Amino acid sequence: VVPPVSRPLEDLKVRLAELVDLGRIAVLLQWDQQTKMPPRGSGSRADQRATLGRISHERFVSVEVGRLLEAAEAQPPEEGSDDAELLRLTRRHWEKARRVPTELRVEITRAASLAIPAWTEARERSDYPLLLPHLEQGLELRQRYVECFDGYDEPYDVLLDDFEEGLRTARAREVLGQLRDLLRPLIAALAERADAVDASVLHGRYPAGAQRAFVERLLTGIGFNRDSWRLDVTAHPFASHTGHGDARITTRWDESYLGSGLFAALHEFGHGLYDDGVDPALERTPLGDVTASMALHESQSRLWENVVGRSRSFWCHWYGALRETFPEQLGGTDAEGFYRAVNQVRPSLIRVEADEATYSLHIVLRFELEQELLEGRLSLADLPEAWNAGMLEYLGVEVPDDASGVLQDIHWASGAFGYFPTYALGNVVAGQVWARARGELPDLDEQLAAGDTATLRAWLCNALYRDGRRRPPAKTIERVCGGPMDPKPFVDYLAGKLGEIYGLNGAG
Ligand code: ZN
Repeated sequence: VVPPVSRPLEDLKVRLAELVDLGRIAVLLQWDQQTKMPPRGSGSRADQRATLGRISHERFVSVEVGRLLEAAEAQPPEEGSDDAELLRLTRRHWEKARRVPTELRVEITRAASLAIPAWTEARERSDYPLLLPHLEQGLELRQRYVECFDGYDEPYDVLLDDFEEGLRTARAREVLGQLRDLLRPLIAALAERADAVDASVLHGRYPAGAQRAFVERLLTGIGFNRDSWRLDVTAHPFASHTGHGDARITTRWDESYLGSGLFAALHEFGHGLYDDGVDPALERTPLGDVTASMALHESQSRLWENVVGRSRSFWCHWYGALRETFPEQLGGTDAEGFYRAVNQVRPSLIRVEADEATYSLHIVLRFELEQELLEGRLSLADLPEAWNAGMLEYLGVEVPDDASGVLQDIHWASGAFGYFPTYALGNVVAGQVWARARGELPDLDEQLAAGDTATLRAWLCNALYRDGRRRPPAKTIERVCGGPMDPKPFVDYLAGKLGEIYGLNGAG
């Protein structure tokens, strides 16, 4: 009998490939739940998802994986190689996963599943006290989660790390503080000239079927391929990645507003493109999973939704087809008028409906409140008051009730503290990526105006998507953007576009 050759790294890869498969099956169950499943299936689906989650977790934190990891580390692969990064990442995840006791994980999941229906009801009735005990429990569980770790500078670091690997709160505070201070004077200047843009053309009768027909035509024109993509309708749009050649995105149609489904579809398309662009060689390895940096992921959804999707050159090409779809509704508006309408800036109550300029301030407020809550500087009972004061200070908006204030988002009810900042960091990174792309593709505007997005897609794929998770997020950002996170390119881009549209500095 020949003894088995010791190949710990290869054995570890087999294990990790199975875990990637299990993770994607979980994504598929979730996708099905939100797009196809009859509502009464939710009980058995919750059991199935919990079972799958438990099996994945147990298989990963097992002693066997620890042994393989240790043996593989004893024969270190070449520094900088994919194998070296795979080991670094797996070690990091394994240590992190083992620190949280199973009972606490179960409690966090259970508390969230009870808090979500309470949040739905509280929001419907605008009844914050109804949700309050759930938030208190959720926050307490998060504080216990933080206590499982050490080596952080402040408690929020632990939560942030789950969504933005390696980013410290102090650094996020610095970047988002600069972003806030750069945006506020721009938004104030635009508010003085609010009448300069009329967006009424977006409101009217826009049947869902026709919206869908146009969006399918548009997506197909910019890279959506029926052999590897799907578009479905859900209450909350999202993108799911279930494997190479299988990108699923969703949107929702608002028949009285053209600005909703179209831009949600472009947003999710950006997410799908990033997942789909990862090197197939990284398939079924942890290096193929690009969700380690939600800021990078969000930079791509925002790039396609806003930077490309609200650009003059993009609509220069696509407006003709849109007007063909809606000849009556858009008959009196030309491409320039439509371009101006989709770039209207108006401080408002609801984050998901916010425009490109004010959106980040909604996030900065949430980020600041989350830190105060976690450190006990603000009590949950006082949160609505602090929320309303913040909205008034940052956006000049009076919050009439908690439903359109502190109760609007599901994140805190579901226990996701630490997620919000990645949305605004996504804007920041999108600005940097765009500045770089423009520098390297001097004909970008002409290409977009001619309906060519292939050159931009190829550039993005080569600069960012293809490499998956071959480097830690901060290194990827430095490599793609030419430096660390910096809000200035994003604000410069906004000030340039909006300044012209609104006629600031005498232009336009
Ligand atoms: Zn997104």
